[in-house]
Amino acid sequence: MLESKVYIVGAGPGDPDLITVKGQRILQQADVVLYTDSLVNPELIEQAKPEAKVLKTAGMNLEEIIDVMREEIQQGKSIARVHTGDPAVYGAIFEQMTYLKKLNIAYEIIPGVSSVFASAAAAGIELTIPELTQTLILTRAEGRTPMPDGEKLIDLAKHQASMALFLSATLMKKVVRECLEAGWKESDAVVVVYKASWPDQKVVRATLGTVDEEMRKAGIRKQAMVIISKAADPALLDEEGKYESKLYDKTFTHGYRKGEPANG
Ligand code: SAH
Repeated sequence: MLESKVYIVGAGPGDPDLITVKGQRILQQADVVLYTDSLVNPELIEQAKPEAKVLKTAGMNLEEIIDVMREEIQQGKSIARVHTGDPAVYGAIFEQMTYLKKLNIAYEIIPGVSSVFASAAAAGIELTIPELTQTLILTRAEGRTPMPDGEKLIDLAKHQASMALFLSATLMKKVVRECLEAGWKESDAVVVVYKASWPDQKVVRATLGTVDEEMRKAGIRKQAMVIISKAADPALLDEEGKYESKLYDKTFTHGYRKGEPANG
């Protein structure tokens, strides 16, 4: 039995098997299920119990969503509020939480597999290759939502760290321009994943010089993750032995294994 509270559940990127076991249990047991119908896979929502009240939120405003939550919680019901990917990134859960706090409604967040990681998996890349890139920046291009000071793409791109861009597929000309101005090269690798983990997933491998055109050719304008990273270069996979982590290096001693002397 679930408690009467709001469970903010990360649904994962699309494939219904990519929800967590905990998230799935809550989804299957909740009295009320609220979900973003444009982004969460309906196959997942079919797992709600037959008597559950299932509501799509794409056409609702925040006030309406909060009203439903208040009424159902007053009747002792449990609510699963299902968000795409992981709720902590561009999930718009903060505003909901402020209202829930004000109304004294308890809530709990269940993490999910973010589309950034489903996209890296689809593209077959590690985003943190030793000595090449050790930092991942999760961000977006500036559209209607202004970027805070110091967080403009041109500032972040200067780090030359791996960057994963959410909500940016329609802003690629600007993305490319800012990256080049920040010191990236036209030949640097970009991988774009459309609908990662869905049956119609597409992976487009390009460079900063070609990505805008390649995305146009593939017809990708939304639901896409853009990964700009030195680690996204497909040629790296042929460089066996060049980038190896110290963790498995036979001369490296760590808490679980004593290394052998070098040249020994
Ligand atoms: N909380 C979500 C992100 C929501 S914002 C998460 O953790 O994934 C919506 C943006 O996420 C989209 O514009 C797109 O950039 C990205 N996105 C969501 N699902 C995706 C998927 N299956 N494949 C690629 N990108 C996806």
